[in-house]
Amino acid sequence: VSYGFQEVDPEEKTRRVGSVFERVASRYDLMNDLMSGGLHRLWKDAFVRRVRPRAGERILDMAGGTGDIAFRMAGAGAQIMVSDINPHMLAEGEKRAPSDLAPHLSWQVENAETLSFGDAEFDGYTIAFGIRNVTDIPAALREAWRVLKWGGRFFCLEFSRMEWPVAAQVYDAYSLNVVPKIGKYVAQDEEAYRYLVESIRRFPPMPAFSAMIEDAGFARVSHMPILGGVVAIHSGWKL
Ligand code: SAM
Repeated sequence: VSYGFQEVDPEEKTRRVGSVFERVASRYDLMNDLMSGGLHRLWKDAFVRRVRPRAGERILDMAGGTGDIAFRMAGAGAQIMVSDINPHMLAEGEKRAPSDLAPHLSWQVENAETLSFGDAEFDGYTIAFGIRNVTDIPAALREAWRVLKWGGRFFCLEFSRMEWPVAAQVYDAYSLNVVPKIGKYVAQDEEAYRYLVESIRRFPPMPAFSAMIEDAGFARVSHMPILGGVVAIHSGWKL
């Protein structure tokens, strides 16, 4: 098995990710619903319940894209900095933001690997379906640690490995055959969705990713599979 984000040429990966999200930005939310059968909404709800954002907290929602996680957290009264490397994704998010949440949201283009924020600025750092797209994942994890306050917490929601044997075969067939076809017919972009499936399959399994989070300096790192590991929530503390 290849977990290959290090095997791919870094510049090539950054370029591909940039063009994929630029192309899919306007259809991104519709495609999420179609591909996950609406499940991504439940996963995001579960994720934010685990983050437990509180009023007045400052949270960096990294790779925040069109704002799904940020809106949920802003609803709880937290101040959210939504950051993403892709201005097109952020622009879609700003357009969609409910007006009552606007005072709780800031939008800023940032590369997760080299953040412009100072040390210890945030109470929480979230990244949902974003980290697997980052070229230098250890660098992004070190930056997450740096910008968190002492006692701050890191949360990551990401696709992982389905661990239920029979379901894994169904899931494989679905992701390899059906997802690119949905991409082709709905977003007119089969290549982009082939990339997404490939990036999910290359991402390290839960224990290996936990070890990477620990290597970046986080303590009490844990992971929680959802739906047999189709997605997983990883978390850790800056202590
Ligand atoms: N968090 C949102 C959600 O859950 O709907 C968006 C997830 S979207 C699948 C992945 C996002 O990661 C894209 O918006 C992409 O631009 C962003 N991204 C990729 N590489 C990045 C990087 N190095 N730094 C910041 N954002 C990045």
